[in-house]
Amino acid sequence: AKPQTLDFIRNSIRDIPNWPEPGVMFRDISTMLQNPQAFRAVVDIFVDRYKGIGIDVVAGLDARGFIFGPIVAYELGIGFVPIRKKGKLPYTTVSKSYTLEYGDVSTVEMHIDAVKKSDKVVVIDDLIATGGTMLAACSLITDLGAKVHECAVVSDLLYLKGSDLIKERGFEVFSILEYK
Ligand code: AMP
Repeated sequence: AKPQTLDFIRNSIRDIPNWPEPGVMFRDISTMLQNPQAFRAVVDIFVDRYKGIGIDVVAGLDARGFIFGPIVAYELGIGFVPIRKKGKLPYTTVSKSYTLEYGDVSTVEMHIDAVKKSDKVVVIDDLIATGGTMLAACSLITDLGAKVHECAVVSDLLYLKGSDLIKERGFEVFSILEYK
């Protein structure tokens, strides 16, 4: 994408200091979603990146991965799989727990038949912070025998080193925007 497109997308995201807790700068995409040109620019970047390269499935993370993931899957003509927080999926699941930034434990789940062995999967969310959520999602996918082609996010908070952790574990990361 052109630098001015990236600036336009970045400027469409609202920073909310000290939310949901003191010291956190929340990157609020709701203003980007309200801006049709910015929203389209984001979707177009993802679609251009993943079209025509044999991606089988788009997996989206609860909850903001559910905004981008299905649009990208629709445009690519492939299926969408939700990776949800614990207790929401009705069929048999695989689950993975991970530690959040401030020590709480969270669990993500996926249906056991959501991906097939040898599927090439792109995992989408709005943002990587500490990387725990994305990494847990990737291990669910690989546990089921599928391959994570890439983790894709709008924003990577580089200062939290989450994407470094994800890459150390052998997964590729693509972000539209980086926050230093
Ligand atoms: P993490 O597991 O620490 O990488 O956190 C990533 C998840 O938490 C993503 O699903 C984000 O939507 C959300 N999140 C964490 N930190 C922020 C932030 N500063 N601004 C917006 N969303 C965030």
